[in-house]
Amino acid sequence: MRIRSAVLRAMGAPAPYAESRPLEIRELELDPPGPDELLIQVRAAGLCHSDLSVINGSRPRVMPMALGHEAAGEVVALGDGVEDFEPGDHVVLAFVPACGRCGPCRDGRAALCEPGAAANAAGTLLSGGRRLRDAETGEEIHHHLGVSAFSDHVVVSSRSAVKIDHGVPWDVAALFGCAILTGVGAAVRGAGVRAGDRVAVYGLGGIGLAAVLGAKVAGAAQIVAVDVVPDKLELAKALGATDVALGGPDGDSVVAVHEATGGGADHVIETVGNAKVLADAYAATRRGGTTVTVGLPHPEQQLQIPAVSLVAEERTLKGSYLGSCVPARDIPVFVDLHLRGLLAVDRLLTHRLSLDEINEGFDRLASGEAVRQAIVF
Ligand SMILES: [Zn+2]
Ligand SMILES: [Zn+2]
Repeated sequence: MRIRSAVLRAMGAPAPYAESRPLEIRELELDPPGPDELLIQVRAAGLCHSDLSVINGSRPRVMPMALGHEAAGEVVALGDGVEDFEPGDHVVLAFVPACGRCGPCRDGRAALCEPGAAANAAGTLLSGGRRLRDAETGEEIHHHLGVSAFSDHVVVSSRSAVKIDHGVPWDVAALFGCAILTGVGAAVRGAGVRAGDRVAVYGLGGIGLAAVLGAKVAGAAQIVAVDVVPDKLELAKALGATDVALGGPDGDSVVAVHEATGGGADHVIETVGNAKVLADAYAATRRGGTTVTVGLPHPEQQLQIPAVSLVAEERTLKGSYLGSCVPARDIPVFVDLHLRGLLAVDRLLTHRLSLDEINEGFDRLASGEAVRQAIVF
């Protein structure tokens, strides 16, 4: 079938994207779903910093690629052998397909699924196949993280889809695929925040604010929110942060977190994707505490921390991909928290736009003007 999709042909276009237009809306030919695959009508897709990192080349991917990895939609058709889904199901798409059979999957660490990671690196679906071709030139187009969310329809592995309650509006539902999974997951699964803990969050984009929501729902006694944009500190307060600190190159945020928490936070979650910010987050962590990073710095960045502090202060520094979540387990849990009024996911949505406005949307994301924007189909 013919679909419309936002395709990235080359990384590294200069900003502003409203002028350089790195994403081109193309007509693509979408093949029918293969075995264990689903045809999905995408109803909403979120714009994420990880998409921006592919556009600007700091997170290189195979080109050309139909971009986007945060989406919700409706199941339209099933490939052979699909048993767990029916047409009409509402699904959130997860950006790592979980095969369910490899070592990490069996170990409850779906974020590390080995065939899933291999497929994502190759720009294919979990099956190893591609289902997208340019309608005009016939050129094969790569899938972005098994999702390719900026398309009106997609074919995905059934292992990329998680059924959700029909009561969640599409634009809100999309956010569960990345911002909520990664941010709430970083707090409740990655860091393991418990009632009474002191938490700090560095970076208040969609994922950082979701981490604030996660820390709150887990019962954190204190949540210190840090960002360089003053408006975002206000939003963090509205979402449950108890204290805020202005971040920046001078490192004052470390002092501010220490003062607010009386010696450092038990858990510090870093979402910026910058080694210097991660070093600040580490310094803001209390002795014996845990620093969790979900940001994706440029591959050339090196982290500098006092090596002795890991042992002498019994610190933990850990990475968290996909919020260390198992999507099939955790997306329904987080959706349920939202439906019970305990996770204000809708507050992260600042803009709704059409597919044709996508380049302008990425300018807003790059400038910090937007938190989460949803393309509504
Ligand atoms: Zn994302
Ligand atoms: Zn697996």
